[in-house]
Amino acid sequence: SSPKNIALVGSGNWGTAIAGHIGEKVRELKGKYNEKINMWCKEETLDDGSKLTEVINKEHENVKYLPDQKLPKNVIAVADLIEAVKDADILIFVIPHQFVKKTCEQLKDKVKKDAFALTLIKGFYVDEKTNELLLVSEIIKNTLNIPCLSMMGANIANEVAEKIFCEATVGSRDDKHSEDVRELIDTSVFRLRFYPDVEIIEMLGALKNVVAMLAGFSEGLQAGFNTRAAVLRLGFREMINFCRLYKKESTPDIYLESCGIADLVASSLGGRNYNGAKKMAETKKSLKDIEKEDLNGQSLQGPGTAKETFRYLQAKNLLDEFPLFRDAYLICEQKIEPQVFLENLSNHPEFS
Ligand code: NAD
Ligand code: 13P
Ligand code: CA
Repeated sequence: SSPKNIALVGSGNWGTAIAGHIGEKVRELKGKYNEKINMWCKEETLDDGSKLTEVINKEHENVKYLPDQKLPKNVIAVADLIEAVKDADILIFVIPHQFVKKTCEQLKDKVKKDAFALTLIKGFYVDEKTNELLLVSEIIKNTLNIPCLSMMGANIANEVAEKIFCEATVGSRDDKHSEDVRELIDTSVFRLRFYPDVEIIEMLGALKNVVAMLAGFSEGLQAGFNTRAAVLRLGFREMINFCRLYKKESTPDIYLESCGIADLVASSLGGRNYNGAKKMAETKKSLKDIEKEDLNGQSLQGPGTAKETFRYLQAKNLLDEFPLFRDAYLICEQKIEPQVFLENLSNHPEFS
């Protein structure tokens, strides 16, 4: 059969890092995949007037979103979304979650019928009218009419680009697709484990961003180590309880995988959401302002997910069962001071 084509939908910090990783792997596989990998890059003009796609294709470096890391030359930045994906057999979605719906709408009826997708996106939607929770994989699957796998884990992009060891969890219900993902991504410094729980894996990836913000608030408030550990533990409990509300769990061990405890720990040690929240507690600036000041176009996914989570729980009248998720949203919106959530720990439903 002819070599399969791979396209990345996204080229931010993580998008670029994983494109480089896959670009190198595909070269080693020689023949089964087309060496050239398209990476959709939403065009932008840099401060010096040059176009980002042109700089990436000339310098083989995403100078804006992953500076100082060379990309293999077979990764090609493509400004036109449809052009980037139209021949793809495997589509890897890696854009900030708030852009998924619009991007998928543009791709409707434009992808190969027997293609499949893999989402690396951490976040979900809650429908404004029905309050129904919509996962990114479901939006991709339903809009493009192709299967969608998920891959989440403790994968801070800059470290992956430096080839520092990590692992990830892949949600897949189909051995054939799993084998492709293993072939494309698994290496001695990026180990994969597979589970059928596509949805739970994604939910954990989204929810850990909320708890990582709480870890950042705690650090910014100079809480004790014991308290900070309690925040992680209670936050993890709320993540698990939230997944059980949604109920598509089949494998209890999933929480102990990289997509669960490990991503929570990594993100709470040094992720962008953690750092932004820490700064918010220290400076009282808004997260929007901090994102603008510190992230140069990268996106904090935690505040949006805190909002969606709050709305979902409020509609079910369950906010009191999830005080950490509730307070995370209220702090993000500057409706309560960060220290209020620490004061509320003592009355967590875990202790009643
Ligand atoms: P990012 O935070 O670097 O965001 C910047 C990207 O967003 C740019 O490529 C920009 O072109 C794009 N963008 C801006 N406006 C857009 C629009 N209207 N439509 C489409 N794209 C637009 O992105 P990232 O770090 O690659 O993160 C993507 C996803 O991967 C997120 O859900 C994130 O949580 C997840 N993730 C990130 C990391 C990490 O360490 N960065 C690790 C694992 C997972
Ligand atoms: P941040 O978006 O908070 O940096 O988290 C990155 C991540 O998801 C690491 O696995
Ligand atoms: Ca380097």
